[in-house]
Amino acid sequence: MKLLVTGGAGFIGSAVVRRAMADGHSVVNLDALTYAACLENVASVADHPDYAFEQADIRDRAALDRIFSQHRPDAVMHLAAESHVDRSIDGPATFIETNVLGTFHLLEAARSYWNGQGRPQDFRFHHISTDEVFGSLGEEGMFTEETPYDPRSPYSASKASSDHMVRAWQETYGLPILLTNCSNNYGPFHFPEKLVPVVILNALANKPIAVYGKGENVRDWLYVEDHADALLLVLEKGKVGRSYNIGGENEARNIDLVQMICAILDRLRPGTRPYASLIEFVADRPGHDLRYAIDPARIRDELGWRPSVTLEEGLERTVRWYLDNEAWWRALLDREGVGRRLGTA
Ligand code: NAD
Repeated sequence: MKLLVTGGAGFIGSAVVRRAMADGHSVVNLDALTYAACLENVASVADHPDYAFEQADIRDRAALDRIFSQHRPDAVMHLAAESHVDRSIDGPATFIETNVLGTFHLLEAARSYWNGQGRPQDFRFHHISTDEVFGSLGEEGMFTEETPYDPRSPYSASKASSDHMVRAWQETYGLPILLTNCSNNYGPFHFPEKLVPVVILNALANKPIAVYGKGENVRDWLYVEDHADALLLVLEKGKVGRSYNIGGENEARNIDLVQMICAILDRLRPGTRPYASLIEFVADRPGHDLRYAIDPARIRDELGWRPSVTLEEGLERTVRWYLDNEAWWRALLDREGVGRRLGTA
């Protein structure tokens, strides 16, 4: 297939681009190159004849129309978004503009192109979303595809809004859509403002490792390359109009995750004292959801997908990747907001 991947210079989008190319698809990578983007993430495929890059903003309808008519994709995988909850607390406007309005413009551009092609039923608009749209769980229970939406941060509210529009475009216009809601990703090429890389890099720099609140918030951790595999499987085999929850089957409290990373570093790059001694508890994030957990029964039973790595294995691979790729992350430390506490409201 020829895939139009939006946000393909970001963390998950670049994993999708690399995996799709390895699977033999052609890829048009559409990305505005915001602070979160890094073209090195796709350097391994950049010279391939089946790869093209378009620097464009999903809020720019004219650019989207030109890209659709020039490249004539068989499917869209929509990952472009503002993605950092802490930044959404400080500045929600760009989240609404990109995640809500940008998705609207992309849907409209896709619909216009699809109509012009004679409404092919094998066209797909695959929207990649988050489990954060479902809100916060207590100690028990899991999110299923039927869990009511209950977003609680500007980020998750903007993603929930985009999910509703994507479903509405299928119901109203017949656009063949797919939707996935996944849990917290981690892995290589993760931008150094998110928890896992921040812990690794602060530890290596011998700086305090800040843990919000008491570190009791629970997340279900999904290795990014497993996620990319799942997304391509849903694209190829998922039932039109259906949504699929994608989880890592790896629930962990933040404090336990941080301790695991410190223990891996103690083994791979021992310091003068255990890295866990750098942990500091700091004021919690406003509106910090207590627990997310994904029930992955649908994607497992219908499509036969399960994550391939445990949290221990995935974290070890990730830590090794950061140790081996210092030039990649060092270049990003100067970007606006990186290394500072954001989102204290
Ligand atoms: P990211 O922030 O690493 O990358 C986002 C990419 O989108 C960047 O390359 C950026 O330049 C691009 N982009 C931003 N605004 C744009 C615009 N207006 N026009 C065009 N491109 C634009 O994000 P990520 O972590 O890779 O997340 C990708 C998608 O997956 C997002 O939709 C996010 O909501 C979703 N998601 C992420 C996670 C996670 O744990 N990271 C979990 C669930 C869902």
